[in-house]
This record gives sequence, structure tokens and C-alpha cells, in this order.
Amino acid sequence: MLRLPALLVFLLATLSLRAQLYMPRNVHAAYNKQTRSFDGRPGARYWQNTGRYNITLTANPPDRNVSGSEKIVYVNNSPDTLPVLVIRLILNIHKPGSIRNGDVTDDYLTTGVHIDRFTIDGHESFWNDGAGNNTWKAARLAKPLLPHDSVQLGFDWHYPISVQSNREGMIDSTTYFFAYFYPRVSVFDDYHGWDIIDFTDQQEFYNDFNDYTLTVNAPDNFVVWSTGTLQNPREVLQPAVADRLQESMRSDSIFHMATLADMLAHHVTAHHPMNSWKWTASDISDMTVAISDHFAWDASSVVVDDAIQRRASVQSAYNDTARDFHRMVEFGRHSLDWLSHHWPGVPYPFPKTTIVQGFADMEYPMMVNDGTNADPIFSRFVVEHEIAHTWFPFYMGINESRYAFMDEGWATTFELLIGRDDNGVQKADDFYKQFRINGWINDPSDEEDLPIITPENVLKNSAYGNNAYGKASIGYLAMKDMLGDDLFRKCLHAFMDRWHGKHPIPWDFFYTFNDVSGMDLNWFWNAWYFSNNYIDFGIQGVSNTRQGYAVTINNIGGYPAPMDVVVQYTDNTSETLHQAPVLWKADLKQAVVNIVTKKTVRSVSLNGGIFMDADETNNSWTAP
Ligand SMILES: [Zn+2]
Repeated sequence: MLRLPALLVFLLATLSLRAQLYMPRNVHAAYNKQTRSFDGRPGARYWQNTGRYNITLTANPPDRNVSGSEKIVYVNNSPDTLPVLVIRLILNIHKPGSIRNGDVTDDYLTTGVHIDRFTIDGHESFWNDGAGNNTWKAARLAKPLLPHDSVQLGFDWHYPISVQSNREGMIDSTTYFFAYFYPRVSVFDDYHGWDIIDFTDQQEFYNDFNDYTLTVNAPDNFVVWSTGTLQNPREVLQPAVADRLQESMRSDSIFHMATLADMLAHHVTAHHPMNSWKWTASDISDMTVAISDHFAWDASSVVVDDAIQRRASVQSAYNDTARDFHRMVEFGRHSLDWLSHHWPGVPYPFPKTTIVQGFADMEYPMMVNDGTNADPIFSRFVVEHEIAHTWFPFYMGINESRYAFMDEGWATTFELLIGRDDNGVQKADDFYKQFRINGWINDPSDEEDLPIITPENVLKNSAYGNNAYGKASIGYLAMKDMLGDDLFRKCLHAFMDRWHGKHPIPWDFFYTFNDVSGMDLNWFWNAWYFSNNYIDFGIQGVSNTRQGYAVTINNIGGYPAPMDVVVQYTDNTSETLHQAPVLWKADLKQAVVNIVTKKTVRSVSLNGGIFMDADETNNSWTAP
């Protein structure tokens, strides 16, 4: 017999009540320091750093040289003294030899970012470009930046815009897209310190919330579109165009701000050798810009917040030949409307969005860069996905470099939900299965089954893609199935309310759902986000009971997914018993579903719908 001290017995009993979630040691330290809280809220000592950016960007197509100048006031809200600042120079991804996710052509390669001048608190400083680690550099300060103090940095720089365009670059010889275009201070956070993950063209954003003033100098007859609110429309546009822009902000109608003919006739911009377009945006994670001397420009607006009748502007800029883009403002209005009112059901948080025709299929704050497509239904699908990113990662400040599933998983989920309204459930679900689930569930390789919590910066290819998109999304949908729409929405909104404008990490999300639902959901999170699981159920057998039948189901893959148990009776009737994931709470390996009936069962089968099963050969049973 083994005797345990009473205290130990008590401890073992309480520990066994609650499955704990794995927490990396650095994250655990943050919770212990109370920057984060075990109830899912920001901790009593939560902090994040911020900056005020005043940027001037000058471009003169078809000259490929782009130059910039900026002042940054960087505020250290952390309790730490910072002897160095990490500066992001993401466009160095274009330099030969940079660490990069995929192959590139010569048209992608450039000499990268050239820092022409660097000042600290107004003093000329030596910019050390150093060797290696091209997309970020550590800049040593003349004197360390103390807690709750700020430092002013100045940069002058230039770079050649790349001929090959993806997330940024030349869309054509006189249409440029500028993203990641200015030196910025990388994120210094409470759980990892400086973010020094190399930009490899796989990760997208992890940025502080900053305030921006941006001036874009562009030649006469070039229109500039940007993140932010245009401060001087009457200085840079012809009066009639400025009037139409203003009118579009108050109307559901779609206005042609500029047609191709207007652009070619030079009827759009004010006629100065260079126009200076001034933009501001506050509490936002990035700025992105497009310029063109021939793209058409449409505009409208839509009510995104019913309570205060707030409208958001929806604009598009495109080559006249792109047929789908002639409907892009319509698609954009629908996206803002639906996403504001249904899922996530939080009013679009910005004053504007602009959808630019490029090649990236990529989101930016208040901007989208999408390719043109022959099928307008597909174009609408892509823009809905990109605009859904407004909430995750931009409103929520997600660290996509490490936890891409916290934003791609949501954009993928919202894309399905809006698609069901657009195209019908069957069509949307079929597309979701084909596009988001099929590749993962039907590939038995080990890289497909890595836990979703694995830091995304160490993953590549399908391991990255499926963890970030399909597996994460269908996990959220499984939780939605279990909690029901009302409770799921309440938990999601609480998470968004607690963390918007901040930097939540996965544990903040999981703990908020536990807290707000009043349930210990760790068994679910653990099985879905922290384990090497997938979806595979199998019927072990069907037996007679006093009330009818008992179906014993094995959970071979380990994911607690919902499913329908479809029962066929010998009288040719059938019945569908939906099983929410809670079926697997007591025992993740095996569960019994009872069929209460006086009829005789002919066969039983399992149907997961979008929750596709890796092996369907064991999903049915027929009476002997
Ligand atoms: Zn996405």
C-alpha cells in the first residue's frame, strides 16, 4: 500500500481536474510577471511600445529609384532599458543572398535599401549595415533608452523598386505598389523581447500600433492611394474629382472617380510638376501606397456601424482591362457590410479600404493588393478573405510571424461563413473542402500533423500553410459547433474587446474563451491546437440496448471534430444525430452514441461534412 501525505493527495486531485496547456517558458515568464493574465485579459502590468512616424516618400515613374525620409519618435513603455533598437529593412529581401522562402527571378533582385542618413535625437550617426541578417539590423543608441522614455530617429533612404511585383514592386512601368517601404522599429514585446525573425516572404506582419503622417510626392497626372485619410484632396485633385470623392463618402452609389479616358486626358490631378499627397492614420500597424498614371479609380461607401451610422469609404484602382475589377467596389462594399454585421460582427474599424489590382492577393491595413481573375466569383472570394484580415491581424495586433494561425485561421473561417451567404452552403462548403481541407487531410505525411501551436516561423510549405489556414480554421469552426453561435460570438467578441490594439498570443485567446464561456475548454484546445492530431473516426461496432442501439466510435485521429451519425432504418426512413465535439470530452479515444428507437437499424454511417475524415473506409456499419 502506498500512503501519500494529505497535501500531496489534494494537489494531485486539483491538478487532475484541469488539463493544462503547454506554455513555452518565455510565455510562462510573461504570465508570472503579470503582463498577461490567466483569465485571458491583458495583465495588470501589460505594456507595448509605440512610435510616431512622419514619412515622406518620393517616386517618379518610370524611374525606378524611390526615396524616403522620416522622423520616428519611438516610445519605450517597457520596464526594460534598451541599449539597441532593432530596425526592420524588409525590402532587403530583394538583395541577392537574403534568406528567402522561395526561388526568385532576376527581376526580383535589387540592391536593397540604402540608408543615406541616420540621426539619433538629431545627431548624425553612423549607420552600420553590417553583414548578414539583411531584413533587420540592430542600431546601437548613443545612450540607452530608459523605461518610459523616448528617442527620435531620422532616416533618409532610397531603393530601386523591383521589376517583379508580388507583395510590392512594379505592377507595370508606371504603376507602383509600395509596402514594407520604410525603416521601422521592430516589435519589442513582453514575452520574447526584440522580434528578430528574418522576413523571408512567408510571414506577413508583426508590427506595433503607431501614428503616421505620410507625404507621397508623385508627378502630375499620377494618382496616389494609401492607407489613411487624405488630408488635402483639393490640393492634389481637380475640383470636380475632389467633389466626387467627397460625395462618394456619403453615398451607396458607385462613382467613377477617374476612368482610363480621364487619366489619359489628364483630367484627374492638380497640375503641379509634383503633387504632395498628405495622409494620416493613427493607432495602426502599417502604411501601404500605390501610384499610377493610368489606373481607373472607383469609389463608394457603406454603413459599417449602425449605432452611429458611420460609413467607410470603399475604393478600387485597376487597369481598365481587368473586367472583374469593374465590380470591385461592389465586392468591397459587400465585404465591409457583411463582415461588420455578421462575422466577426464588429464594425469595420477603419475609415476606408482601397483594393488595388496587382499580383499579391494580400492584405494591408486599409489596402488590398489582389490579382485579376476571369471568374468574378473567385475575385469576390479573394477580396472577402483579404478584407477579413482587417480584424485579424490588423485590429487585433497578431504576431503572424510566430502565430499565423491567429489571423489566417480567422480569415479562412470568415471566408467560409460569408461564402455560405454569397453562394449557398453546399457550394461554399465544397469549395472550402477542396481549397482548405483536402490537401491536408489526404496527405498522411508527418509534416501535416505538427501541432498548430508550433511557431510558424520554423515551418514551411504545407506544414506552414495547413497549420495556419485549414487546420486552425476548422478548429475554430469545431468550437463554434460545440458552443453554439451565441456563446461562440460572446467569447470571440470578448477576446476582440480585450485585445484589439494590443498584441494577443494564443494563450490569451484560449484563456478568454475558457473565462467567458465559464467552461474549462483546455481538453479541446489541447487536442486541437497542441497535439499531433487529425480527423479520423471509425465505427467499432453497433450493439443493442434497452432503448435501441449503441454506436461505439473510435477517435483514431484525435481531433474532437463534430460529425453527423446517419441512421438508416429497415423501413427506409433515416435519422441524423448531430454530435458536437463535447462527445469527446470524457474520453478522447472512444465514445458511444445512443440511438433511441423502436425501429430496426439497417446501417449507420458517419458524415463530417467540412470536417473531412482521413479514412472513410471505417465510417459505416451495416447490420449483419
Ligand atoms: Zn490570408
